[in-house]
Amino acid sequence: MLAYFPPVIQSRLDKIRKESKNWMPIWTGDEDYEKFEVHGHPTNMVVDLGKRICTCQFWILTGIPCIHACAALTRVNKRPKDFCHQLCTMEAYNKTYAHHINPLPGQSLWEKSMYT
Ligand SMILES: [Zn+2]
Repeated sequence: MLAYFPPVIQSRLDKIRKESKNWMPIWTGDEDYEKFEVHGHPTNMVVDLGKRICTCQFWILTGIPCIHACAALTRVNKRPKDFCHQLCTMEAYNKTYAHHINPLPGQSLWEKSMYT
């Protein structure tokens, strides 16, 4: 999947990737090589790359893989940006802002109506 992200998402992802280096993923031994216990401070997290979830809930709430997920993804040689939710892409971002708000003059300039 080739996706482009708005700068705000991209810079957030870069920061998460850097911080993920402080976390140590331990493979739990599942067949699909998707479940990891990610060790770090202040506690350990459980990441499931198949279900795209982590104990910290960040991934499911933001659509961006959290530092723990990024640590696990690096371990399996996968790119975190391929695991961002579709809603984070530039395309979705543009769709969100495709509609404009119609400008409206102050109330004193509104047209008088004969109806209440
Ligand atoms: Zn996490």
